[in-house]
Amino acid sequence: MDVSLLLDGLNDKQREAVAAPLGNHLVLAGAGSGKTRVLVHRIAWLMQIEQASSYSVMSVTFTNKAAAEMRGRINELMEGSSAGMWNGTFHGLCHRMLRAHYLDARLPDDFNILDSDDQMRLLRRLIKAQNLDEKHWPARQAAWYINGKKDEGLRPANIDAFNDPVEKTWLRIYTAYQEACDRAGLVDFAELLLRAFELVRDNKHIREHYQARFKHILVDEFQDTNNIQFAWLRLMAGVDCNVMIVGDDDQSIYGWRGAQVENIQRFLRDFTNASSIFLEQNYRSTGNILNAANELIANNNERMGKKLWTDGEDGELISLYSAFNELDEARFAVGKIKEWRNEKGGSLSDTAFLYRSNAQSRVLEEALIQAGLPYRIYGGMRFFERQEVKDSLAYLRLMANRNDDASFERVVNTPTRGLGDRTLETIRLAARDRSVTMWQASVSLLEEQVLAGRAANSLRRFIELVNALEDDTRDLPLFQQTDDVIRNSGLRAMYEQEKGEKAQARIENLEELVTATRQFVVPEEAEEMTPLAAFLSHAALEAGEGQADDFEDAVQLMTMHSAKGLEFPIVFMVGVEEGMFPSSRTTEEVGRLEEERRLCYVGMTRAMKKLYITYAEMRRLYGKDNFHKPSRFIREIPTEFVEEVRMKAQVSRPASSGRFSQTQVNDNFNQTGFNLGQRVKHPKFGEGTIINFEGSGAQSRVQVAFNGEGIKWLVTQYAKLDPM
Ligand code: ATP
Ligand code: MG
Repeated sequence: MDVSLLLDGLNDKQREAVAAPLGNHLVLAGAGSGKTRVLVHRIAWLMQIEQASSYSVMSVTFTNKAAAEMRGRINELMEGSSAGMWNGTFHGLCHRMLRAHYLDARLPDDFNILDSDDQMRLLRRLIKAQNLDEKHWPARQAAWYINGKKDEGLRPANIDAFNDPVEKTWLRIYTAYQEACDRAGLVDFAELLLRAFELVRDNKHIREHYQARFKHILVDEFQDTNNIQFAWLRLMAGVDCNVMIVGDDDQSIYGWRGAQVENIQRFLRDFTNASSIFLEQNYRSTGNILNAANELIANNNERMGKKLWTDGEDGELISLYSAFNELDEARFAVGKIKEWRNEKGGSLSDTAFLYRSNAQSRVLEEALIQAGLPYRIYGGMRFFERQEVKDSLAYLRLMANRNDDASFERVVNTPTRGLGDRTLETIRLAARDRSVTMWQASVSLLEEQVLAGRAANSLRRFIELVNALEDDTRDLPLFQQTDDVIRNSGLRAMYEQEKGEKAQARIENLEELVTATRQFVVPEEAEEMTPLAAFLSHAALEAGEGQADDFEDAVQLMTMHSAKGLEFPIVFMVGVEEGMFPSSRTTEEVGRLEEERRLCYVGMTRAMKKLYITYAEMRRLYGKDNFHKPSRFIREIPTEFVEEVRMKAQVSRPASSGRFSQTQVNDNFNQTGFNLGQRVKHPKFGEGTIINFEGSGAQSRVQVAFNGEGIKWLVTQYAKLDPM
């Protein structure tokens, strides 16, 4: 083996790190400076030069994809194999240990992993069983409490509730939950880490086995490790292990999930004679992109302080596009991607969309589908496949067709209304025996009075709910119908009770579904259908498109969080508006704002050649129109690195979106036949005042503030509104 190969393609500093003497090392450096590359070469170096057996090496990455890539790159470098090496995420490696030592870990040999949805379902059941009101003790918050405690290494027995009744209740839920998991052989994500930690801590023979085996431990993205991961690492390393960690404090973006950037300093303190190596040259991005990112992150105070430069070209300026609205934004970006492919012969996989929240993907997905461009959502699901969206669609489907058994099954007990498995089984059997649908079987069973009182009541309430949802919303426009269904079905309240980031994302998706129905234009071929039926087939088709498969050339879509560690020649950062990014939830607290800025730094530094930043003056998101200012992050980038781009006039103001600015409203005023401020009467909702309108002809609708019934949008054609 030629040593020069191991050091080829590395600068002096990187070589220093790769060829460092055995011992503990921290490589601290900014984005794109080759940290991950150093780690890979270091592993090859250890095996080739230090004669380390692959068996004695463990490397930890942040995602499974990164682990696979790392293995591939090591194999390439080694002209051989890395078989025997342990390589994976913290969760993956801990899982592996628990499987190997299930007896010592006090687990059954067939233990299962409980994902976060399953965890929530189990918690909900337990909270109910304790006769606690789920409004005050939401499952989501219980999960947050439990996972947080586990991340700190705390079992119920280690927690002192100091007679605080609230804490005592959470603790009781934690205890019941842990007992239930242990009985059923279930291990949640946080438990994987905690239990693996305890396994090594409490079993001398296991600890000694691993400490003797792993002589080399390497960790990527160290800035995002949490307490329990750090503690596990220390135990695994023991005293004579050689540990190299690489990280970047400016890219610490999981503080909200318990990551401790302080772990970098703790490493220097707790691991003997740890040395620090700094890399300063960036190889990923052009000068303009890099300098812009450097200027941005300089606005943070909490920094360890690093420099980053490049000797590459300045490259193109960052293009800043101010879109009229989110549809215009998507159209602009997709247009640029088409240009890239058709005129420059570029491949789609060179392009990536980065956004702050998952709900933003929908408009982009639709624009890509319309343009016939394959795409892949990295680390997430397509919009119409997300749980909360499917729940809502199931109600809408049932309203359109009571015999849709799949939808019936999906929502008959969602939100929970006390229908047990036994009752459902009775309905299923009855449906099968009588060759009818579950809805029909339910109606018959109720008539025949064969169900127990409580079950019968719950089932009747569900049947009445679906009937009422249809009756009450029949003459509302589709989006109002959807909004009412999401609220009146109890779905929204159910998700609102569940606290945390994920719950927030679910609510955002529900609201985004309302926006989707509002933007939906019934296609010509579906004019015979009701708007609801037409929309449902649209949603089914979009969900059915399936992701581009792994080998197909496709545009990459992901949140900025999941883009960590990755790079793309062309990056579009979309929705860079105040209130979106930084998100409105974070601007109040300095710490959280700085984390948002780090996220922006991560986003910008994913771009190699070209960065587009876009924002929309008006955004209909989560069902509401929002007028946002450009993000403060845009202002923090010096103008010398940025050019503003404009689109041709006819595309920048879409006429077909069915929306109107204030002046346009007045121009279209006559088409609805009503005036602003006019008093009207509706047969069901009573008297009200016209406060807004939009659309024309058959699509025209008016917004009415009813006395007592609230504000509603109504399709003018069906609404039977009488002027007063
Ligand atoms: P991040 O902080 O985003 O994880 P990183 O510090 O891990 O970034 P790498 O992904 O390892 O950086 O490297 C960034 C890019 O620069 C990669 O495309 C890598 O192949 C390239 N690169 C790294 N070092 C060199 C070098 N010495 N010469 C040429 N290219 C390099
Ligand atoms: Mg990296």
